[in-house]
Amino acid sequence: MKACKDCNMIVKIGKNCPNCGGSRLSTRYSGVAMVLDTEHSKISKSLGVEKKGEYALRVK
Ligand SMILES: [Zn+2]
Repeated sequence: MKACKDCNMIVKIGKNCPNCGGSRLSTRYSGVAMVLDTEHSKISKSLGVEKKGEYALRVK
């Protein structure tokens, strides 16, 4: 799996991020957070994500 360098979303299939459409994917990431509630989740606020999904906490 890879993580998007722009929005941190975990990308399981394909070469582009399904969230932001970016192609800057990295295999070097650490920590995965499942965001289910973007309005009330502290993780989503700290990552700045607006969609549900799996996100890497850090992408190198
Ligand atoms: Zn992205």
